[in-house]
Amino acid sequence: MNQNQRLKGQTALVTGANSGIGRAIAVEFAKEGANVVINYVTNKEATEQMLDEIRSFGGIATALEADVSREDQVMAMFRQAIITFGTIDILVNNAGIQRDSAFADMSLEDWLLVLNVNLTGQFLCSREAVREFMRRGLVPERSVSLGKIICISSVHEVIPWAGHANYAASKGGIKLLMESMAQELGPHKIRVNSIAPGAIKTPINKSAWSTPEAEAKLLLLIPYGRVGEPFDIARTAVWLASDESDYVHGASVFVDGGMTLYPGFSTNG
Ligand code: NAD
Repeated sequence: MNQNQRLKGQTALVTGANSGIGRAIAVEFAKEGANVVINYVTNKEATEQMLDEIRSFGGIATALEADVSREDQVMAMFRQAIITFGTIDILVNNAGIQRDSAFADMSLEDWLLVLNVNLTGQFLCSREAVREFMRRGLVPERSVSLGKIICISSVHEVIPWAGHANYAASKGGIKLLMESMAQELGPHKIRVNSIAPGAIKTPINKSAWSTPEAEAKLLLLIPYGRVGEPFDIARTAVWLASDESDYVHGASVFVDGGMTLYPGFSTNG
């Protein structure tokens, strides 16, 4: 458990939370005193291990299975989470997938799958969270805001990505979804932001960092000289979910070791 317990008494739902970035966020939130809802869609065993880990340091967590791209499953998940913990204070829209291919070969199925999980999933979960924030009202002892939504986007919300048109389109969509929600929901004291990670070592991009050759190539894109770790994102998420960042609203926080500084221009331009 961390000492200052910045999320004490709040309930956080993290989607796609049994792997990579989502896992690190959920564990860190529990260390900061939040009740954590671990959403997962596959790999029950990894989810059980996570629950054991969180409970071993005195954290509070439950796991709920739901495909974030399915409206009925998302609604049922929120209903169950609210029955378990009474409300939701924080949503982290983290679930995401890649189905890469050359543009001319991209199937409609892969286009739709990525858009449905990465973008529609964030819409469906955010809508349920907002409905709950508004139903519950402000609880000043827990937070100065009605609720917080953190969207996990990507540096590819601004950097085009050949061979990944569906993924880049989904992340570009998240940028304006997040900003539109922030504009509309700010007057209700609902805080909405994104974290835009650069290259983080997780299963989604293992081929890009798991051999020394691949990692050296990847580092050419990262001025700060190291590939990110899930904890880099988790620390930022704790801050964005806490009242410490209360005036940060409608922002994409880039956590990317400088990947968005266009490092190719440092020697060529
Ligand atoms: P990951 O593959 O380890 O985790 C993705 C999680 O989403 C998994 O738990 C998976 O089961 C879950 N998921 C997939 N489809 C789902 C669905 N329909 N419903 C619910 N959950 C579902 O990868 P990660 O790197 O931890 O990715 C987490 C987020 O971070 C994604 O949105 C990804 O686009 C984003 N991101 C990752 C990187 C990186 O370098 N790793 C960079 C930028 C953005």
